[in-house]
Amino acid sequence: MDIIIEIGTQEQKLIIEEELRLITNAFETKIGYSPLSKILVPSDFDAAINQILASSTYKSVRENHIALAKTLKTQYGIVIVLSSTIYGFENLIRINTIIHELFHCYNPNFHKEFDYSNPSEYRYKFNLYHLFDEYQAVRGSYTTICQMFQPMPFYYLRNTITTFLSHINSIVDKSIYYNKMKDEIIKFRFTADINNFLQNIDPIFKQVIMDIIYIYAIYDCTVYFRKYDNIIKSSPFINNNSDGLINFYRDKYNKRNYDLDDGYDLMVEMTKNFGMEFWEVEGGEYCKVLNI
Ligand SMILES: [Zn+2]
Repeated sequence: MDIIIEIGTQEQKLIIEEELRLITNAFETKIGYSPLSKILVPSDFDAAINQILASSTYKSVRENHIALAKTLKTQYGIVIVLSSTIYGFENLIRINTIIHELFHCYNPNFHKEFDYSNPSEYRYKFNLYHLFDEYQAVRGSYTTICQMFQPMPFYYLRNTITTFLSHINSIVDKSIYYNKMKDEIIKFRFTADINNFLQNIDPIFKQVIMDIIYIYAIYDCTVYFRKYDNIIKSSPFINNNSDGLINFYRDKYNKRNYDLDDGYDLMVEMTKNFGMEFWEVEGGEYCKVLNI
């Protein structure tokens, strides 16, 4: 495996490389193989990812979110790209980010191919698998750190709680996403412009559903977070549909079972929380807009 460090002095490069080798070797030893071909810490994160993806549109800074790392499938194998930003973080927060990406790259579903010929089925299955990938990476990395470093340093605990609460705020405060979604649904009732509706709902869907995954993946690491039950449940996005999907992910995670096909209907129900239901029609897919 290659490690390429484009930041820091010669001495810093060696320290960064040594840390990455230590962490990846620990993973490899535990699991018994390495799917990883390269780790890159580039001087320009966005440019490096665009180069690997042969695109020009990737941006790490998005609404309410900054990407600090990315795991990519390339023709040469799996590549993890780490933002130089993480080298300004405290140790365990940086290590958590690195371990998170390793969980992605060791997920057996990372190489799963989906059938594109049926657009609705593709949409639901892709989301079902992709969200579980994120759930296991978040829960796996936090759990690993909790097991390895006891007692937990205060700064790490504080950072975890802050992250957890910011995701909760995003789904509980209706003015951040929920009201915007309701407005889009009302607008659709007047215009019937489905493309415009989907285009505007999509970024909200991606952000909120990821918030929900982060909340429960962190929540499931320790009983400490149970005291936030009532506030989480006060979110309009949390109901039987979200409970069904999260309980399914918990069960699969505990059993290390990566076959998720039996959760398809749960993903269909979860998507209804965002005012959308899809099915196949001749020549494409149909979206029914639901009230939320
Ligand atoms: Zn991730």
